Amino acid sequence: MTVEATTSSERTSQNIRDAHDNAALAAAIRKLAKARQAILLAHNYTRSEVQDVADFVGDSLELSRKAAACQAPVIVFCGVRFMAETAKILSPDSIVLHPRPDAGCPMADMATPEAVADYRRAHPGVLTVAYVNTTAATKTEVDICCTSGNAEKLVSGLPADREVIFLPDQNLGANTAAKLGRKLNLWPGCCPTHNRILPKHIEAARAAHPGAQVLVHPECLPAVVELADQALSTGGMLKYVHAADAKEFIIGTESGLLHRLRLENPDKVFYPLKPDVCCPNMKKITLEDVLTSLCNMAPTVELDPDTIRRARTPIDRMLAIG
Ligand code: SF4
Repeated sequence: MTVEATTSSERTSQNIRDAHDNAALAAAIRKLAKARQAILLAHNYTRSEVQDVADFVGDSLELSRKAAACQAPVIVFCGVRFMAETAKILSPDSIVLHPRPDAGCPMADMATPEAVADYRRAHPGVLTVAYVNTTAATKTEVDICCTSGNAEKLVSGLPADREVIFLPDQNLGANTAAKLGRKLNLWPGCCPTHNRILPKHIEAARAAHPGAQVLVHPECLPAVVELADQALSTGGMLKYVHAADAKEFIIGTESGLLHRLRLENPDKVFYPLKPDVCCPNMKKITLEDVLTSLCNMAPTVELDPDTIRRARTPIDRMLAIG
């Protein structure tokens, strides 16, 4: 009992120290960001203290739009590398800082530009739809991008008589195909974080919290999506929860979204579908990294003009559709 009490008290002291440290770091970041005329963009999956210091928190589509519209001299991008690349593609005149260049996305790396080019050669006339979770180099090889929030709208607008390859997420592709009743060729890639959520986890969560609505991300396995009440992007989940009369929700996506859901909906209760749904890459960027990056104005995202030009076309096509 003594040991438990000590451990708990030590943990509380550490939490208070961390809060003070975070408050001091956040104040230093805000001051330096102002001096540098920098805007801080953070994805919904980043650490809660990083979300709290950001000017804008959102999903891939929202952050893409913000990057295109903000015209800021400096963008600090807190998310994984392909997202920072997208910010650079959409704001080529801005200095884009990505505090941890080693924060990549394993799913994005599952579709290399060489493999996509090979596929296109082997399937003449195929339309290539790329989830925005692809590298800038891979985007140069595709026809149009999409996000989890607009995949259905975008695919439904493609000519019905054309063969389509959807990459790199076979789960999002399969879920989109099932919703639209359309055949899509699926690239053999997936998000390792969302792919760990299984039907048995939904059954266990429903048994533990009867009456709570189950919301999952469309990067989850089709068998998981079938059992859920809703399959929504992170932006879609936020909108859905705001508008819903229900008070309890089981959330089947990366744990970082719980911070924003709880912050914006203090009268509602959120349970993680599975406690360890955590993307290690999304959690890499710390407040210390953001401050160091702003101090040094590095590391920057650098893309050659030809890559920017060619990768921008499929993103612009997506943004034009919505
Ligand atoms: S959550 Fe999945 S898709 Fe998102 S960055 Fe992590 S690995 Fe990539």
